[in-house]
Amino acid sequence: MQKSYLHNPGTLKIDLMLRGIRLEGTPDGMEPFAGRAGAGIDIVLSKGTLVNVPCGEEFTKDSPYLLKKRRAGGYAITDGDDEVPVKVVPTPGFYKRSTSTGVKFSDIVTVHGSYAVVTPSRRCDFFNRDVECRYCAGGFDDPNAAEKVYSVDEVLETVEVVLKEGASEIIYLSIGFREGDDGGIEHLAPYIRAIKKHFNCLVAVEALPPKKNRWIDETYAVGADSVLYNMELFDKELFESICPGLATLIGRERYIEALRYAASVFPNGTVASHLIVGLEPPGSTCMGIDLLTSMGVVPILPIYRPQPGKALRIEPLNAEIIIPVYRHLYNAVKKNNINMLWVRDISVVTTPIEGRLLVGEHERGVRSLFEQFYKTRLGLKTAWGLSTLRRKLRVKEVKDPLDSSEH
Ligand code: SF4
Repeated sequence: MQKSYLHNPGTLKIDLMLRGIRLEGTPDGMEPFAGRAGAGIDIVLSKGTLVNVPCGEEFTKDSPYLLKKRRAGGYAITDGDDEVPVKVVPTPGFYKRSTSTGVKFSDIVTVHGSYAVVTPSRRCDFFNRDVECRYCAGGFDDPNAAEKVYSVDEVLETVEVVLKEGASEIIYLSIGFREGDDGGIEHLAPYIRAIKKHFNCLVAVEALPPKKNRWIDETYAVGADSVLYNMELFDKELFESICPGLATLIGRERYIEALRYAASVFPNGTVASHLIVGLEPPGSTCMGIDLLTSMGVVPILPIYRPQPGKALRIEPLNAEIIIPVYRHLYNAVKKNNINMLWVRDISVVTTPIEGRLLVGEHERGVRSLFEQFYKTRLGLKTAWGLSTLRRKLRVKEVKDPLDSSEH
């Protein structure tokens, strides 16, 4: 008999990300594809666990899960035998609105839980060279979109609506590959400075590693609170074949070196890297987790979502196989004393802190007062204040990051 994952939000989140969900219709307040294609549906499971569930894609048609309206009101997820109540996150109201210059906010930002990704430009030069990452689904392949660069003012207007609607308090600025040594930070710097000047929020940079470490110092100095250099795959050969641009123009060793250096510059728990589950054997992902956590880097594990014509997923892949990987993640992050509080409440991935749902610690009430405090509005402000103070001290130490010695 098929094992039921319904009653543990940690395992259910993983199984939902893996298999998707069927809908009876468009849930109230929700437009399933209000964002970009494949945007999925954000659902809150028990214990406040957020998950972005694929729906509408071909592979979701065979999912055992159905989102249904309950007679008593609200929604439930059923696997055919049993059901659990859930909440559907409404599509942010601002998705339908536009900036004063007429750009739809949903073209600039995508929100998933506390993960608001702002993309000032959809340019990635890997596409010009035909060396793009084979799983890329970020909408960077549209030449018309790639030519458009949103202004600092347009981004500021976008951040303002995100913060006003309470959609997220952390802004992730994302950028694709660009020629040059800086990994795109010169392009992002004016946006980071302006956001930090105008708003009391945290800013994370999701970019490719720069060629020189001095640009990592610069990323911190201009105001980024967190940085993500996503390795995506740990296995060397699979990295080379699935990410040809990353492998030839940046290199796996440079990823490791840049992450190691970033972890020495940024506060504990704010340097992260994705490893996509399903593109390599689970043992390989676990080796990646071990290396990253030994350097003080937080591994974030999204699950690969098959796209038409891209048969990249290793088979067989099911929750039973990958749940131990997430347990391993939680234990490794804990063992290395890495702060799990910064990377959390992201519906599109399972974060290390959610790993506790898989090892049963939530039952023993280990959630600390410290953690609860940081999840409050006051706590986040305090985190922001501490991060600003720490940066000032660090920037003073480095003095002129652009003159500092290179790696
Ligand atoms: S670096 Fe890879 S994943 Fe990122 S936008 Fe370019 S092709 Fe897509």
